[in-house]
Amino acid sequence: MGWLGIDDTDHLGGGCTTKSAHDLIQRLPPYVRVQGLRLVRLWPFAPGRTRGNAAVAMELHCDDVPALLTHLNREWEEHLQPLKGALSSSHHSDRHQHPADPGMVWFDSPPSPSFYLDAVRSLVDLGSVPTATRAWGGEGRIGATAAVAWPSKNATYEAIAWRSNGATGPRMVDASALNCVDQMKGTFLSRDPRNGSSLVAPRGPSPVLFGVRATTSEVAGHAATVIAEGLDTEPLEDWRCFETNQASGDHLDGSVVAQVMSVEVHPKRKHARLMTDAGPMVAYAESGDVNRLARWLKAGDAIESRGLTDRTGTLHIEQLRLQSARPRGKSRPPCPQCGRRMKSMGQQQGLRCPACKHRSPKGWVDVASVPPFTGWVEPPANARRHLAKPLEWSNMTQ
Ligand SMILES: [Zn+2]
Repeated sequence: MGWLGIDDTDHLGGGCTTKSAHDLIQRLPPYVRVQGLRLVRLWPFAPGRTRGNAAVAMELHCDDVPALLTHLNREWEEHLQPLKGALSSSHHSDRHQHPADPGMVWFDSPPSPSFYLDAVRSLVDLGSVPTATRAWGGEGRIGATAAVAWPSKNATYEAIAWRSNGATGPRMVDASALNCVDQMKGTFLSRDPRNGSSLVAPRGPSPVLFGVRATTSEVAGHAATVIAEGLDTEPLEDWRCFETNQASGDHLDGSVVAQVMSVEVHPKRKHARLMTDAGPMVAYAESGDVNRLARWLKAGDAIESRGLTDRTGTLHIEQLRLQSARPRGKSRPPCPQCGRRMKSMGQQQGLRCPACKHRSPKGWVDVASVPPFTGWVEPPANARRHLAKPLEWSNMTQ
């Protein structure tokens, strides 16, 4: 037996790597048995990658490994290597596109899990990739190896279904089946809770019809069957269940405690840029409550945040909470007799209550801060990273 990893068979859409893996499995010789099929998300800031940076790996069991390697070599030459240089057909034309540089690796025994942690938390180069028993291709070997190295701790599951060959246009997924899956115990992120829209079907051109996530493989498989059999669901080619590191939180290594020095809000797009004593941080408009809290912050507030640091040293906030806030200003104290706010009578003349005319010497009181949130906040479901662990799953307390 051994471990096979593949990656970078297409860019700007992890779904395509899952389809390459599915096709490869379909063509395996009958004497090979597949186990432990996995979809592994990696560092989202890797050059030319989207949030969805993902690789696929699997365990292959057979008695004749040399014959299998001959088969895999042919598989590489005929199906994967030709994808080199291809640009994605994605409509996200604003994104800089890197041509695909596929990679495939075979390990007789899996590499150290520490390589997975490196590849999910930082940029790794080809030179630091553990040596495979057999390796094909280029940059894709990084993700392919990391997928093999994933120790599958904190795993969740995603059943992915592919459209029938050549299907284009809007995806047809049965609404009542989707509703049923959404109510099913053990599924998660099937729908955006804010507006009920489906997160199951990807946007843009991709061979993926839907992916349904669950905490067990049984539930993921059951949910896929329910959607596939839905009356209004378009014909699908096939589906498979992947073990994944999605929602593991593996990409984050602890939190940063910082004091805010300044807050700058983009006048149109509302992104909030924080300068803190722990470095610059950003909360994009799409991050919902995170952005709202970030925009509310003022110099001197203490925060705790979790997120990835990009190559410019800016931390992209994924989870945020206020630790303590400075007062939001000063005001005149309330009247000790009737409670109305006192008013100044002019220079060097003390304060007077506008209602009962009570007088007192001049003074100020702090205006208490009223933050929009007191505990941890996270972006809405549709703006979270695949790797993000939902707050409700964490043991975080306020
Ligand atoms: Zn009064």
